[in-house]
Amino acid sequence: MAQLAPARARICRACDGFAAAVITTGTRHRDGTRVTLRVTCPACQGTGHTTPARRRETARV
Ligand SMILES: [Zn+2]
Repeated sequence: MAQLAPARARICRACDGFAAAVITTGTRHRDGTRVTLRVTCPACQGTGHTTPARRRETARV
């Protein structure tokens, strides 16, 4: 019955864990493929997690 902490708690809420979004610009390359821009999530810096480098989170009493 013992369960570990849910993985959901660490997933970035801003991007729901996707970390990066691809945006189509509307223009196309000469071969017909779309020109896309890749934007990383500013909240988690593209990691998809809310606490990317915290080491003190378990230091609570
Ligand atoms: Zn994010």
